[in-house]
Amino acid sequence: MKRKTKSVPKYTGLFIALIAVIAIGLVACDGDTPPTVTLTPVSVTVNNDNLTQTVTVGGTATGDITLDTTGLSPMVTATVSGTTITLTGVRPITDVPAITGSFNVGVTREGIRQNLRVNINLTTTWTETTVTLTSSSVTVDDDNLTQTVSVGGTATGDITLNIAALPAAVTATVDETTITVTGIRPTTDVPAITGSYTVGVTRQGVTQNLTVAVDLTTTWIDPCPDGHNIAWVSDYTAITDNKCDREGCTHIAGLGDIGPGGGVIFYVADGGYTNRPTAHNRSNGFTVSMVNNADNYRAYYLEAAPANATGGADGTADTMMWRVGTTSELVGLTSWPYDQFGSGGIDRDAMARINGRIGEGRGNTDRIIAFYSTHDDQTYLNAARAANNYNTATADDWFLPSTGELYWLSQNRELLDGKEGITAMPPTGSFWSSTQNSLSGAWSQAFDYFGTPSINNKGYNTLRVRPIRAF
Ligand SMILES: [Zn+2]
Repeated sequence: MKRKTKSVPKYTGLFIALIAVIAIGLVACDGDTPPTVTLTPVSVTVNNDNLTQTVTVGGTATGDITLDTTGLSPMVTATVSGTTITLTGVRPITDVPAITGSFNVGVTREGIRQNLRVNINLTTTWTETTVTLTSSSVTVDDDNLTQTVSVGGTATGDITLNIAALPAAVTATVDETTITVTGIRPTTDVPAITGSYTVGVTRQGVTQNLTVAVDLTTTWIDPCPDGHNIAWVSDYTAITDNKCDREGCTHIAGLGDIGPGGGVIFYVADGGYTNRPTAHNRSNGFTVSMVNNADNYRAYYLEAAPANATGGADGTADTMMWRVGTTSELVGLTSWPYDQFGSGGIDRDAMARINGRIGEGRGNTDRIIAFYSTHDDQTYLNAARAANNYNTATADDWFLPSTGELYWLSQNRELLDGKEGITAMPPTGSFWSSTQNSLSGAWSQAFDYFGTPSINNKGYNTLRVRPIRAF
């Protein structure tokens, strides 16, 4: 039997099509509603602290957005980019009058206009922050490797430099308000370089450009690859030229340099007794005290002899007594009581006393020699006589150092290390000074790192002697 099947009504498809048409018609009817333009926010305030404001355009309208700014104060500009409106005010300055008030800006899209309310409250006269440079450009060349520029103006706070454009051969740094630009001379390893580069100088948000002209072309060769050839003058009272005499070298004689006598400079006078002497400062010097005060002279350096003096009974011994025989008398310029160094080693006061002995060795030596010329065994070279007999090719004024002079020699003994023709002074053994402590004792210095002088018996102990000279 044929099964009866349920058939789809013939008009069903047509019905669905009709519904669809109606639905589309309903959507199409929506086109009768005007497109919308919305503003977020609808009003803004531009004032001294908020010079820039933005407004977002929304709604259903599409296409270009145009602004009608005819009603807006010239103190404020309005621009549109995409759907963002930007309003920017100008701070009042001397030439721009203050302004307050409310203004409308028309915002139109697809024929729909909305008014944006712009409140303006620009009243504070503003002084523009400035950054100035004493020079807007500097030139770094072979003769002028370093240049400085000062930063001025009303801006405050840290100064930053943008040196990204500088070549590697030139650096720029800032310290307080001084910019220092430094070039490196071309060498075999540093190529020559020329050109003009910009360094940004920024302070409190304001940037000025500093132009750095670079002209580094001459390959530089170190004029002193093997040490310095110091041009010494022989006049004790007027050392006016103690620079290296090699062309192009600006080295000034200092600690560790070879002195006029062929020894090593171990002390350079400076202005203070409490500071360790530094090189390149000879503004004050010290007085070399002679037996007769009229013979005193000004000196700036102490120079250690190239080697120890030899003395003793046959004149060849490494160590010797301070004096021979039993005569006890204080013959030197000064003597020290036991408490000179205190119990805690060399304190600040002791350092002042040490430095107060600088300049006394020459006179001490002469006095000792004179005294013992009638009281001593004249065939025996005591410490003072051995030091005085010591000579080099260019100097014969060597003497037995005072305690203060010997102290600095012990502290700076490493300056003698590794120099051709110079016998180093290892931290072993004790050396005589020309400063006495008592009738029977004189000060000596053990050449260890601690620098504490000690007392030895003048006519019993045998110690080493390193002559020095002052010039
Ligand atoms: Zn030199």
